[in-house]
Amino acid sequence: MSTDVSEFARLGLVPALLDAIADTHYSSPTPVQTQAIPWVLRGSDLLAAAQTGTGKTAGFTLPVLQRLSESTKSRTKPGQPRCLVLTPTRELAAQVTESFKTYGKYLPLKSLAVFGGVNINSQRMATRKPVDILIATPGRLLDLVDQNIVRLNSIDILVVDEADRMLDMGFIHEIQNILKLLPSKRQSLLFSATFSDDIRRFAHSLLNNPHEISVSPNNTTTELTEQVAHLVDKARKRALLAKLIKDRSGLQMLVFAKTKHGADRLVEKLRKDNITVLAIHGDKSQGARTKALAKFKDGSVQILVATDLAARGIDIENLPIVVNYEIPHVSENYVHRIGRTGRAGNRGLAISLVNIDEIKLLKDIEKLTGETILRVEIEGFTGHSEALGSTIVEKQPRPARRRRKKDRPPSEK
Ligand code: AMP
Repeated sequence: MSTDVSEFARLGLVPALLDAIADTHYSSPTPVQTQAIPWVLRGSDLLAAAQTGTGKTAGFTLPVLQRLSESTKSRTKPGQPRCLVLTPTRELAAQVTESFKTYGKYLPLKSLAVFGGVNINSQRMATRKPVDILIATPGRLLDLVDQNIVRLNSIDILVVDEADRMLDMGFIHEIQNILKLLPSKRQSLLFSATFSDDIRRFAHSLLNNPHEISVSPNNTTTELTEQVAHLVDKARKRALLAKLIKDRSGLQMLVFAKTKHGADRLVEKLRKDNITVLAIHGDKSQGARTKALAKFKDGSVQILVATDLAARGIDIENLPIVVNYEIPHVSENYVHRIGRTGRAGNRGLAISLVNIDEIKLLKDIEKLTGETILRVEIEGFTGHSEALGSTIVEKQPRPARRRRKKDRPPSEK
C-alpha cells in the first residue's frame, strides 16, 4: 500500500517531492515542517527554533528543492551554486546532503557536501561540475572560494543550520566573511536549537524581516525519555558502565565523554571487557568517523563513545539509551545529548554517571530543564549517596528495555 502524503500536499509541495516522501513512508509532516514549509515556499526569510530530532532538516530541504526547481534562472554554472547550506560539523553536512538526495531524487538538482578533514582535491574536482546546492562547513568553503573554485555570487538561498553551535565553535568571523560574498537579494533561513541574545543579534544581521517559528520551548527534554542519575565514585565509573552495558545486553548506547583523550581511554578499557565499541571525535579522520557511525547505525557495534562536538547532528533512528559518562559543564549540552533518544514516538533512557564533583553540574541541568532527574543508587558503586540525595537503591539490574523487533538491526534479530 502506498503512503498517503495528502498532508504534505496540503503544504504546497509538488508531485516530484511527494513521490520522494512516499518512498520514505512518512505519514504526516512534523510540526516544524508544517510551520516552515509554506513560508519557505513563499520566499520568506525564516528564523526557526528547532532541535535535531524534530524533522527540521526536511523542513528546509523540501521547500528549498522546490524553489530551486521552479526558479526560472538559467542553468546552474560550474562552481556557482544557487543554494548554500552552512553547517558547523562535517557529520551534519553529510546528513543534510543525504536529506537533499533523498527528497530530491526525482528532481534534476545536484547537491554536494564540502568540509574540512578530507583532501580538498576531490572536492575541487566535484565543484567543477554544476552543483545546485552546496552544503559546507565555513572553513573549507572559504578555502574553495580563495582558490577560485567556488563563487558565491549566484546564491539565491542561504541556510544556516545549527547557528548556536556555529557561534559556540567560533565560526562567526568566517560566516561574516561568507555573508559579504553573497548577493544581498536572497532568501535566508536560520535554524538554531537555542536562542541567546547573541544568536538573535547574529540572526537579525543576516535575515530580512523573517517569519519566526518555534517548535519546542528551549531547553526542554522529551517526556518519552526517562532520566536517571547514578552516583558513583570516579574510579568506579568504568566498571559501572560495563555493568550497565552487560545488564542491558544487546541494547545500543551512545556514551558521551568530555574529552577526546577520555573517549579513547574509555574505548580501550571497554574493549578489555569484550564490549564492541568505537569512538567518534575530532581527532579521528573523517573516514574513521564515517565508518564508526555506519557500524553503529547498522548495529554491528553496540557502543559508540562520542564527544559533544563530534556527536553534534548525529541522527540515529531508535537509539534506546544515551549515557553521560561525564556530566557536561554546559547544561544545554545535556539537553542536546539526551535528545538523541526518545525520538519519533519511541521511548528512551538517559543515564548520567555522576561523581561527587559533578553533583553541582547535575543540579545546574535540573535548573535549566526544570525537571528532577531520578537518583538511583546501584549498590557497590558509591560511598557518597547522601550527597546526591539518592531516592532509590537498586540491587537487581533493571530489566532490559527492548526495541520493537521490527526496529532492531538484523544482527539483533
Ligand atoms: P532532523 O530533526 O532533521 O534531524 O530529523 C530527525 C529524524 O526525523 C530523521 O531521521 C528524519 O528522517 C525523520 N523525519 C523527518 N521528517 C519526518 C516525518 N514527517 N515523519 C517521520 N519522521 C521524519
